[in-house]
Amino acid sequence: MQSRRKFLKKSAIASLALAASPLDVLAKDLPENNSTVINRPIVLSTWNFGLKANEEAWTVLGKGGRALDAVEKGVRLVENDPNERSVGYGGRPDRDGRVTLDACIMDENYNIGSVACLEHIKNPISVARAIMEKTPHVMLVGDGALQFAVSQGFKKENILTPESESEWKEWLKDSKYQPIVNIENHDTIGMIALDANGNLSGACTTSGMAFKMHGRVGDSPIIGAGLFVDNEVGAATATGHGEEVIRTVGTHLVVELMRQGRSPQQACKEAVERIVQITKRRNKNLKDIQVGFIALNKKGEYGSFCIQDGFNFAVYDQKGNRLEKPDFALK
Ligand code: ASP
Repeated sequence: MQSRRKFLKKSAIASLALAASPLDVLAKDLPENNSTVINRPIVLSTWNFGLKANEEAWTVLGKGGRALDAVEKGVRLVENDPNERSVGYGGRPDRDGRVTLDACIMDENYNIGSVACLEHIKNPISVARAIMEKTPHVMLVGDGALQFAVSQGFKKENILTPESESEWKEWLKDSKYQPIVNIENHDTIGMIALDANGNLSGACTTSGMAFKMHGRVGDSPIIGAGLFVDNEVGAATATGHGEEVIRTVGTHLVVELMRQGRSPQQACKEAVERIVQITKRRNKNLKDIQVGFIALNKKGEYGSFCIQDGFNFAVYDQKGNRLEKPDFALK
């Protein structure tokens, strides 16, 4: 028989749940020792452009919409903006002057879609979603990805803007490949969201490292590296030097640490510390490397950590939309 205390707690939760707006949803089955309000919906995304991407995502989340739709819509805004030179249309090209895009998406049911080294299409995130929803596969690359996109009605167009082209021509004079920490010659938008129904999803999209070798693929389209979502636990996404994130399967590590009980903040910190240790073991210079993680759990708690100062991310929840700066390892 259920105790009086349990009964009272359940009825209190039930009446609060009835009163809750979509912005203030209570968990239906809170564990005995947890009477806190779940912070949902909430959306997090990387860097300054995360602010406007969050606004866009909130047009879905604020109405009780699905996290998957919110993250796709949010990052598309940045892909479509030619002034954002590290994502989508207007992204900086590789060393051959070709803009090649990487993206992936993951929903609350372990459905995944990914596209790598995709040319001529403004919205790789939507191609990734189409791969997830309409093919038996999870990842298409290069020409095959382009063929599929065109077959689905995506417009094939020139996505190298005059600004990116002239920067590339300038770069050709020295032809020195040197990703600069925190300077936007890379920078990915990674977005993770928890919707009013308690479901998590994520999206990640980039033109990758400017002036990379043709065919180079970073972490951003790789599930478990640039993005990982487990609807029972949480979600994480990454930005920075993709090679280091792939080496440590970074976002999978963050989510697994949350599964073991770490807070999103602690999980991001430990994952960054792992990269720091491995970089030292490999005798590489940490000062040349930046990696930032953002993470979110099922309660809507969030956290972030990076290797060095300079990374920021945007959070939108009941308290509004704001930029936050995480703590970092290299002090
Ligand atoms: N992670 C991206 C890549 O390696 C770039 C970035 O986020 O800065 O392609």
